[in-house]
Amino acid sequence: MIANTKMTSGEDAPVMLELKDATVAFGMGSDAYVVLDQANLQVKENEFVAVIGYSGSGKSTLISTLAGLITPVSGAVQYRGKPMPPPGPDRGIVFQNYSLLPWLTVVGNIDLAVKRLRRDLTRSARRDYVQKYIDMVNLTGSEKKYPSELSGGMRQRLSLARTLSMQPEVLLLDEPLSALDALTRSVLQDEIIRLWEEDRRTVVMVTNDVDEAVLMADRIVPLTPGPGAKLGREFEVTLSRPRDRTTLNFDPEFKHLRNEATRYMLQLSADSKTRRETRRFTLPDLEPANLSG
Ligand code: ADP
Ligand code: MG
Repeated sequence: MIANTKMTSGEDAPVMLELKDATVAFGMGSDAYVVLDQANLQVKENEFVAVIGYSGSGKSTLISTLAGLITPVSGAVQYRGKPMPPPGPDRGIVFQNYSLLPWLTVVGNIDLAVKRLRRDLTRSARRDYVQKYIDMVNLTGSEKKYPSELSGGMRQRLSLARTLSMQPEVLLLDEPLSALDALTRSVLQDEIIRLWEEDRRTVVMVTNDVDEAVLMADRIVPLTPGPGAKLGREFEVTLSRPRDRTTLNFDPEFKHLRNEATRYMLQLSADSKTRRETRRFTLPDLEPANLSG
């Protein structure tokens, strides 16, 4: 085992990101749509948190709030114990919709960020540096392609490489692997974990896959179905690292956690359906008027 020189997350690790009774809404006045309702979340330094939730529950909104792109209408969002500053390169985001620059190649998209942040590198060192990240996400051979010439999965990998190349303190990943085929997905899961174990960062990753969350995270935080989502019951993942996907499937703790989290998510969905149904109007029992009489 390589000793980790950086502090690992633990009980006494400082809080890196925090939501305090944060309410996030779109629109104004009576038209306002409340996405997060007095949500509370603490992410410790170097912790890997997975957020799971149904589509439309507010996961992307949560990521944007943690990046400083959206300001809560009430409550607070903090970064290292201070009000969240505007977005910066210290908080790297991988958006769900790639957000690549269409007029730049694979190399160009990564180099754009690197050029600005790594002025210490010579031209050739920078070229090697960019290539390292291209190779890491298996885009070797596609260096000169433009985003329009890449598949969805390739764009997502490019987006991930670009963000990783910035070596941000905080990584905010919005379903970075959801568009990928199963094989590429598992390769990248391993790659992200490997990088994270090598050089710990604070990670908040949205996923739609409970197994992925258990495999990768220290803690799983479910988002309750919206509108007005909150962060639900948390699941601590105490499985030792490195985690081996091939043997994990037989690990009783893994199976237990996966079942618990899945059961909880299904329960959340059932509860929200019941709430919706009880909100429906009950129509009065009317008889048509007898017009002929
Ligand atoms: P998720 O990522 O979990 O699928 P989102 O955070 O994207 O969910 O969206 C949560 C809710 O907020 C959805 O109902 C969506 O329609 C709404 N929403 C998201 N962004 C905006 C916006 N910019 N303006 C208005 N409504 C929005
Ligand atoms: Mg989303």
